[in-house]
Amino acid sequence: MPDLPVSELIELDRRHVWHPYGPMPGRVEPLVVESASGVRLRLADGSGELVDGMSSWWSAIHGYNHPVLNEAAREQLGRMSHVMFGGLTHEPAVRLAKHLVDMSPDGLEHVFLADSGSVSVEVAAKMCLQYWRSLGRPGKQRLLTWRGGYHGDTWQPMSVCDPEGGMHELWSGVLPRQVFVDAPPAEYEEPYAEQLRSAVERHAGELAAVIVEPVVQGAGGMRFHSPAYLRVLREACDAHDVLLVFDEIATGFGRTGALFAADHAAVTPDVMCVGKALTGGYMTMAATLCTSRVADGISQGEVPVLAHGPTFMGNPLAASVACASIELLLGQDWLGEVKRIETGLREGLAPALELPGVQDVRVLGAIGVVQLDHAVDMKAATDAAVREGVWLRPFRDLIYTMPPYVTGDADVARIARAVCAAAREG
Ligand code: PLP
Repeated sequence: MPDLPVSELIELDRRHVWHPYGPMPGRVEPLVVESASGVRLRLADGSGELVDGMSSWWSAIHGYNHPVLNEAAREQLGRMSHVMFGGLTHEPAVRLAKHLVDMSPDGLEHVFLADSGSVSVEVAAKMCLQYWRSLGRPGKQRLLTWRGGYHGDTWQPMSVCDPEGGMHELWSGVLPRQVFVDAPPAEYEEPYAEQLRSAVERHAGELAAVIVEPVVQGAGGMRFHSPAYLRVLREACDAHDVLLVFDEIATGFGRTGALFAADHAAVTPDVMCVGKALTGGYMTMAATLCTSRVADGISQGEVPVLAHGPTFMGNPLAASVACASIELLLGQDWLGEVKRIETGLREGLAPALELPGVQDVRVLGAIGVVQLDHAVDMKAATDAAVREGVWLRPFRDLIYTMPPYVTGDADVARIARAVCAAAREG
């Protein structure tokens, strides 16, 4: 049990602690989590447990308090929790880099270990901009992306988030000016593919890279699109001397039913960002992978180094847990588990289509989405899910789930019932 009474803890939290996208002082009372195990969060107010339909923002793919991940952390803690990465290296970071190179699309050879998803996107942008500078083409400094995306909350990532109605509209006048094309349709449509090709061609002279979330646009709207667009982008980028970046921070490590969403299209990007599930959601770490073309290009420049080096780069504790998480994932039938959840979500969410106010229901891999025709009443929707014993975190017009892969069939059905209840009440 926490040392502070729950009511006091909530009051101190409200007064002093910023929460994501929150006001200060806080206006809503957050639930206090005392511990978490398997797919369940135990609440400190004694009201019991909630099945986690969110995997802690899509990261805890193996669930909580996993013995294998705990052991990896414990073992590494006994050696060293951190050591600087400048001039030093260590086995967890090297093993992790090798794992990532081996499992990611062919051709990605080099790994920058970043401290969060947003930073890995910053690093990706920096790599691409620096690549063209090094090659004597400093005019190529902009990024092209599609609308409806989300790439993080730091400066370059914010500049490629959805520019209208997105989370960072406040900054639209001062962020780097990027190039936006319409969000991709769900199915392959040749006129849209043509729009993509011509946008890349038209802006190629000023483009360092195209950056997209492959197959699933996550926090910008939970939209799915045909993997065929990734091939269109690859061809257009190759034809017009533009680098291609895939942000796989949400989609990586099996979530969409492929190890990486790029695998659905058999496309290798020049740069790829991963995060979230990298450490099984245990701690913060992300990575930016790139091809030898990109690394060699940077190395040929006037400044032949990538000038980025955070204090906690390559953190051994996080790297050890990430290695254990990857070995755990690859050592099991992860695809079977993701497909099992997909089937459960398809069945369980189908009734939502009959509810008033529901515009769309879509499922891909271990992702289930109910889209309303109005903005969600966050409190009503969350309360409805909690009454079903499930934790969900809707946003905008979306109620969705991305459960841990270890969620059993009964809990998947329960999550689906909670999503339906939230859609009814929200
Ligand atoms: N890119 C994508 C696709 C994401 O979904 C997110 C987070 O939701 C990020 C980047 C930012 O990652 P982080 O929150 O770890 O900074």
